[in-house]
Amino acid sequence: MNLFRCLPSVDALLKALDAVNPALPALPRPYLADLAADFLEEQRSAIRNGLLHDPEHLRLAALLPMLRERASQAARPHLRPAINATGVVLHTNMGRAPLAREAVAAVTAIAGSYSNLELDLATGERGSRYSHVEDLIRRLTGAEAALVVNNNAAAVLLILDTLCKGREVPVSRGQLVEIGGSFRIPEIMEKSGVILREVGTTNRTTLKDYENALNDQTGAILRVHTSNYRIIGFTADASIADLARLAQSRNLPLIDDLGSGSLYDFSPFGLPDEPRVADSLRDGADVLAFSGDKLLGGPQAGIICGKSQWIARIKANPLNRALRVDKMTLAALEATLRLYLDPAEAVRRIPALGMITAPPAELAARARRLARRLRRALAGQAHIRLTPGVSAVGGGSFPEHNPPTTLVSITPTVCSVETLRQRLLAATPPLIARVERDALHLDPRTLRDDEYGPTASALEQALSENGNNCSGFPARTLART
Ligand SMILES: *Cc1c(COP(=O)(O)O)cnc(C)c1O
Repeated sequence: MNLFRCLPSVDALLKALDAVNPALPALPRPYLADLAADFLEEQRSAIRNGLLHDPEHLRLAALLPMLRERASQAARPHLRPAINATGVVLHTNMGRAPLAREAVAAVTAIAGSYSNLELDLATGERGSRYSHVEDLIRRLTGAEAALVVNNNAAAVLLILDTLCKGREVPVSRGQLVEIGGSFRIPEIMEKSGVILREVGTTNRTTLKDYENALNDQTGAILRVHTSNYRIIGFTADASIADLARLAQSRNLPLIDDLGSGSLYDFSPFGLPDEPRVADSLRDGADVLAFSGDKLLGGPQAGIICGKSQWIARIKANPLNRALRVDKMTLAALEATLRLYLDPAEAVRRIPALGMITAPPAELAARARRLARRLRRALAGQAHIRLTPGVSAVGGGSFPEHNPPTTLVSITPTVCSVETLRQRLLAATPPLIARVERDALHLDPRTLRDDEYGPTASALEQALSENGNNCSGFPARTLART
């Protein structure tokens, strides 16, 4: 029997699709036809490779549900909201900081409209896109001047390119950081045309080491916050104040790559060791760089601030044009920064701050509430219990600090934990959770109250999926569309 002949035509598939689902969401006809043609081609290739033998599997009735599933996948946005039940607050793979409602509203207002992005409303002449946030940054940090670029990696690149190109920059061997996503200090320095001058040792670097490294080729001193690791034991490090005095005595700028660069004082919450922007400036750093979407809790951005004499040169660098920040980011950043004008408001309204500082007792109460809801929804399909655990701040912040939490731990009785985890990835919205010791753990720290319902539905759906697994169509192939 010629198996190829069993396959329906593209037209027949589309007609049948119309009949079963006339309102297939907003997929343009030519795109749908392409999907159907690709889908049929895959079946032909499977026949050629001897993977499909049964003619029944090639008939319209068998193929239609698969194509329908694929079409409905394709109709959804590829980038979509997900539920973060991992307890990692600044989860880089999940978009780092969720924005405050005020920041979302600001983006919405600016995105669909013209604005005064680079228009001075006092004169009608051309203005600066930094004007919307520069005063706020000055006020909140004590810096003389500021600008914003695409992210902190761009900020470091731009600073080095402007102030140190072709010159030597001493960095402590203990600070040659790699941040996830392949940002490495030695490589970014090389890309900026700067000659890295390693000083000191991995565990101990003294002021004298910096002093000995300075010569007439030196362009700046660079300090890098060891965001995602700590060196402990027999250690020494030169303070910002000492480095600032040394830099000033040679007319060099002291550059401080803060990484997270907090505007908020986390020490009352037992989180002492993340450097604050204002502290670094007060101690004498000349040019600082930090992220908008780490501990700040705002949009992806790189904030550069410090003394006017250096910031003016950075603003004038043509490379800045290639790294420039867009209007939606500026809208979100301005709204987020405004919330910091009242720190008590900031911690209430900026989701990342609230999650990081959530008291253990509140997390326990939320875990109990979620567990009650899940016990009702998943009766007989899973064991649900509360277990003590730890969360993580993430985004390369507070690497040794694992704030205590209460986990809702789920052990399915109808499928394996791994199967459950995978099905939750395919849920709408996808639910991302940790798997450890044969249970799936949900951390209430990163769950919003309004996500408990969707979390319960996703689990309910995933646990009832046994036996109706979309005709065994491989998940891999579905995911590609
Ligand atoms: C995170 C980090 C960066 C990179 O910041 P992005 O905003 O991710 O580009 C650079 N330096 C340090 C020290 C960091 O912690």
